[in-house]
Amino acid sequence: LGNVLGVQANPIAEKHEPPDTNSQEPTREMIQLQRESLPAYKVREELVSLVRFNQVSIVIGETGSGKTTQLAQFLHGDGISSIAITQPRRIAAMSVARRVAQEMDVALGAEVGYSIRFEDVTSSKTQIKFMTDGILLRETLLDPYLSHYDCIIIDEAHERSLNTDVLMGILKDLLTKRKDIKLIITSATINAAKFSKFFGNAPQFTIPGKTFPVDVVYAKTPVDDYVEAAVLEATRIHLGTAIESGDVLIFMTGQEDIEVTENGIKEKLLQVYSKRDAQISTFEDIKDLEVYPIYSALPPNLQNRIFHKLDPSKRKIVIATNIAETSLTIDSIRYVIDSGYSKLKVFNAKIGLDTLAVTPISCANANQRSGRAGRTGPGTAYRLYTEETYDDDMYPHTIPEIQRTNLSNTILLLKSLGVTDILQFPFIDKPPTETLLASMYELWFINALDNFGALTPLGREMSKLPLPPSLSKVLIVASQYDCSEEILTIVSMLSVPSVFHRPKEYEKESDLARAKFFVPESDHLTLLNVFSQWRQNRYSAQWCQRHFLVHRSLARAKDIREQLARIMTRNKIPISSSGSDWTIIRKCICSGFAHQAAKSSGLGKYVSLKTGLRVDVHPTSALFGLGDPPPYIIYHELLMTTKEYMICNTAVDPFWLMEYGGLLYNIKRIGSSTADSVMFPGSETGTARTAKDPLDEQIKLCETH
Ligand code: ADP
Ligand code: MG
Repeated sequence: LGNVLGVQANPIAEKHEPPDTNSQEPTREMIQLQRESLPAYKVREELVSLVRFNQVSIVIGETGSGKTTQLAQFLHGDGISSIAITQPRRIAAMSVARRVAQEMDVALGAEVGYSIRFEDVTSSKTQIKFMTDGILLRETLLDPYLSHYDCIIIDEAHERSLNTDVLMGILKDLLTKRKDIKLIITSATINAAKFSKFFGNAPQFTIPGKTFPVDVVYAKTPVDDYVEAAVLEATRIHLGTAIESGDVLIFMTGQEDIEVTENGIKEKLLQVYSKRDAQISTFEDIKDLEVYPIYSALPPNLQNRIFHKLDPSKRKIVIATNIAETSLTIDSIRYVIDSGYSKLKVFNAKIGLDTLAVTPISCANANQRSGRAGRTGPGTAYRLYTEETYDDDMYPHTIPEIQRTNLSNTILLLKSLGVTDILQFPFIDKPPTETLLASMYELWFINALDNFGALTPLGREMSKLPLPPSLSKVLIVASQYDCSEEILTIVSMLSVPSVFHRPKEYEKESDLARAKFFVPESDHLTLLNVFSQWRQNRYSAQWCQRHFLVHRSLARAKDIREQLARIMTRNKIPISSSGSDWTIIRKCICSGFAHQAAKSSGLGKYVSLKTGLRVDVHPTSALFGLGDPPPYIIYHELLMTTKEYMICNTAVDPFWLMEYGGLLYNIKRIGSSTADSVMFPGSETGTARTAKDPLDEQIKLCETH
């Protein structure tokens, strides 16, 4: 099977990381013993015959029972030779593939491999392939019969990720065309009956398993700052309980608050320890504790540390996103600290905006999180919210992603698969019609769909690129304007975690270093500038270090760039350079993001052109390098924290907004073209402004939209 997407194996991130000094590779005996102790292992025969006699099976089991790591191995042992297992998260796909390869004693990428976007670690030998659900979806585009596979396992179906939901709809249809293919849906206990019903009452098999009781302790009063509260709770546990009583798992929302928590815990404990013992002056001197963060942008070899068995005299505190809720199981956890929040992508169909927002979790999430403390013995979960909040304010279940995110990506994919009427597609839970329409509108707006909702030639081209529709469009337009070399770099840089390093102790220095790369009209061009300079410096890691850049992210961008270039060449999309003309590059960026534009309302403030609501330029933006804030900008992403921040912005010419968003915007010109004053169209009194530039005209939202 292997290289379906033509993506080259190149797990680049691992080459640049320092070795993990705490690493303790388990022996074969230890691994075998651990396997045999898993609940799934005890029902191996039942599982194998369940699959043998049914085309579709639903396998239910507590987290940590061995569904992900064992099931494929059992089936492989029973003679099924080509198995795909999907995961909603990239980091889980990588981590479990590595674990299964280790259990089978084979090299990763040989019999067992993984494939995530822009990273394919499989070969012609691969028989068990872990992949993100998004990758399997893209494979259906190239091979609608998925003829490579004899068996497909949709893992973590209870997570109800958008791609998993769509896959289930597609597979439902495929099952009738390929009677020989096996489908297994695995799920934690929630939601399982729904899957069975969806697949014509497919048999459900529950892996019997035992978990230990977990004491739940609520906050007595509402918590203001969950990071601070988590730091306090973690230090209290560490100092107040015996090390042998178990490890600690903290749930946070993302990289930022994980890092703050990590630093907080280290600082606090260092204070206590150094008072007790004058020899202790840095956190590294503390011998009975390791603090491990885990989030998706963390390099793979550091991700794996969380599983390492430490010396019995040491305790581990893991600080994780909701990745540790069900996808990854750390056995030694006896204490859970739950912030009560996670970061979710939320789409507001009314205003057509997608935002990443820190959102309260559901009761189901809370219970999953607590359960993590009771894997190997009784545990305690500290909830950093009150019991009233749990009872009265939290939703019982998380709303499935399909009902809360932008669907433009999904619709483009379904259209390319020949699904003409999206409303008729078999969704487990239907997305709100409003969302479907808003997403189709967006696709129409960027010219991927025509007036009848059919795929345009541009839309078809776009679907061939493994990118969000807007970025695909920018790349295709760039190839027509002879600047795809540059846009290719920008798109690749947008696909990796931030390249700017901002260590806590060097905030000023790193901010200065970052500012040296600023191209004041554009964060996109700033990214291009960083990459170009890095290339001029022969891709040097030392150079990155000197300039506070994350070499790993840049190396990954370079790798992604090469892969995208290959995909473009294969699809006959020309790659050429605009030389030093950077205006045309900004124009191309505008072509895919005209629907995400904002207008300056003076004093550095902006309002979204689409909604009229206030949005702020993120403090890290290069635009602050400009004397005056540019009148019009587009943004790549909107981040909602205490304010709505536009992330990665580029100044644009209002006429480009007209050209690419003419259906949404029109220019209202008051007075003659040579007039030096233009009116503010929204203002009834018609405040006069002085136009320094003939282009300084006002763009107004058409009332019809
Ligand atoms: P499930 O999918 O049912 O939640 P898994 O198959 O993921 O369960 O996990 C089964 C066991 O394998 C767990 O006890 C877990 O700790 C262990 N495990 C999974 N991945 C690793 C790893 N990378 N290193 C060590 N142990 C692991
Ligand atoms: Mg699992």
